Amino acid sequence: MKKLFFLSLFVGAISCSPKEETVDYTKMSDEERLKAATEIAQSTIMVDGHVDLPYRMKVGGFTLQREILDVSVRTPDGNFDYPRAKEGGLDAPFMSIYIPAVNQKTPGASKALADSLILMTERLASTYPDKFAMAYSPTDIEANFEKGLISLPMGMENGAGIEDDLANVEYFHKRGIRYITLTHGTDNLIGDASYDTTATYGGLSEFGEKVVAEMNRVGIMVDLSHVSDNTFKDALAITKVPVIASHSSVRKFTPGFERNMSDELIQAMAKNGGVMMINFGGSFIDSAYAAGGAKVREHIVNWLAENNLNRRDSAAQAYINEYAAANNPFPTVQKVADHIDHVKNLVGIDYVGLGSDFDGVGDSLPTGLKDVSMFPNLIAELLKRGYSKEDIEKICYKNVFRVWKAVEDFALAKR
Ligand SMILES: [Zn+2]
Repeated sequence: MKKLFFLSLFVGAISCSPKEETVDYTKMSDEERLKAATEIAQSTIMVDGHVDLPYRMKVGGFTLQREILDVSVRTPDGNFDYPRAKEGGLDAPFMSIYIPAVNQKTPGASKALADSLILMTERLASTYPDKFAMAYSPTDIEANFEKGLISLPMGMENGAGIEDDLANVEYFHKRGIRYITLTHGTDNLIGDASYDTTATYGGLSEFGEKVVAEMNRVGIMVDLSHVSDNTFKDALAITKVPVIASHSSVRKFTPGFERNMSDELIQAMAKNGGVMMINFGGSFIDSAYAAGGAKVREHIVNWLAENNLNRRDSAAQAYINEYAAANNPFPTVQKVADHIDHVKNLVGIDYVGLGSDFDGVGDSLPTGLKDVSMFPNLIAELLKRGYSKEDIEKICYKNVFRVWKAVEDFALAKR
């Protein structure tokens, strides 16, 4: 008995978490493991770095004057709503306040759009206070979680919302924005974007350097998804606190796709103490998807022409669905786990999180990870690969909370 007691103490000492060592998830049946994964998803805070619901509401024609899209109930379209988030154990999806690059052409348009999307998100929380709540800190998310509410923290996707006025960084902090993705599709006043080839500044602009410093000062996380490699490196050199990539995957699996992160950048980000939140979109996960998807689309276009049908005709829709299903180009949930594995093996478990891009990547999501109800499938796959409950907790929220708290603490000390 004494020997056993000593042994368990020893196991406890090396794992810091003696209880979970009694569970070997790898030895479970798939069914048992999915049950365990669902329980973990329900009992653990789960943060998603990027959900494009506000823009989905805008595209749906929902304005502040009219009814907002009712995601308090199950919706036939889209990847996010309250019932499905509850099923999947998602507690804090970062609402993307997304500003398309086209707005950059009209002074003031980016800030105006950001303001209206923030109002729309606030309206969602105030309309359904028994289901949603705003959240401006990890502490808020923890409190909302205790009450069973889904938190709606906000990140601004595209620093263009700051326009050319540094004072707008503090303005948006006051409006509740807690990360800013420095660029989006094209270079902006802050710096160069990954999808652009202009290389306007060769990285961060002088204004962009000031923006990063100001974000540090007021307490907004620096999000390096969407920036060019040079902007990424420049921002890392300037920031005084850890950064995030709110929705980026591993470039190793998508060669040449600068929107994803190279191993060099992943290592640099880990050195900075940051967190990379994995995007689930098909073209982010698997370069074969982009090629396969293009083939399916080409076939469908030809078939529609041959049969003199429009995409919206019901006969055409039946065929399109059947053909797409039979020639399924979608990656699998295992592929997403491969990205998490890669980051873990390269730099460790402390630097990876989830940034699905749900409601933002169209019909490209992996089989088994089509919407927010399916997070347990990913957790089950990770458990199968030997991840512990503690590892899952780090991926779900502890890593991003560590960064967020460091950013809060730095700003607090500056006040
Ligand atoms: Zn994006």
